[in-house]
Amino acid sequence: MRCLIISDIHSNLPALEAVLADVQAFDEVWCLGDLVGYGPYPNECIERIRNLPHMCIIGNHDQAALGRIDMATFNLDARLANVWTQQQLTSDSCEFLAALPQSIERDGFHLVHGSPRDPIWEYVIEPYVACANFRYSSAVTCLVGHSHLPLLFTLVDHRDHCDARLWSPGDVIQLGRKRIIINPGSVGQPRDGDPRASYAILDTSDMSWRCQRVDYPIEVVQDRMRAEHLSRRLIDRLAIGR
Ligand code: ZN
Repeated sequence: MRCLIISDIHSNLPALEAVLADVQAFDEVWCLGDLVGYGPYPNECIERIRNLPHMCIIGNHDQAALGRIDMATFNLDARLANVWTQQQLTSDSCEFLAALPQSIERDGFHLVHGSPRDPIWEYVIEPYVACANFRYSSAVTCLVGHSHLPLLFTLVDHRDHCDARLWSPGDVIQLGRKRIIINPGSVGQPRDGDPRASYAILDTSDMSWRCQRVDYPIEVVQDRMRAEHLSRRLIDRLAIGR
């Protein structure tokens, strides 16, 4: 099976469409949460994903859009974008988000938004955090989002040592041999200094993970965000990928 692995779309439809056009054929999309928040196309992104064969989990911004979490934990930009998102979401969109699980385990893969230990909130950025999290999953391969960084953590031995690295577009990673935690990066708001939409292709027939980036019309999203009076900082960061 050929799976499109994506995360953190954040209501960025042009970025999502660019990924779908770039990847061409796939059997299923696995989405690691945060479909909405920050960007200007929440319903459109949900609609696009729900009409594809998909496996999707919920992220902290999706929870926030449903009014399920305390917004004091969000910064001002994120809070304002969340208020806007709540005003936009249709009942169909809310229903879709509300039905998403926090965690899915299937065929040796564990899908969460944050981490196996804390599927909603924990960022897996530091190797010691990754190491601790292997104890909270029995899967060989954990797929995470949330940090918006295309990171790979490999458990080197059983004495709490992890290798960490950022992967690059075009890299092919062989899965299934060692325990790993891997992040496909963000479709709609990359934060590693590369503004292109980030995604991965998982082929379960040879257990390969191919890392990809694709350009999308950032200015189209920025224009729409300006028209919707979303925050200047959120608009500007799309162009620099930070
Ligand atoms: Zn996010």
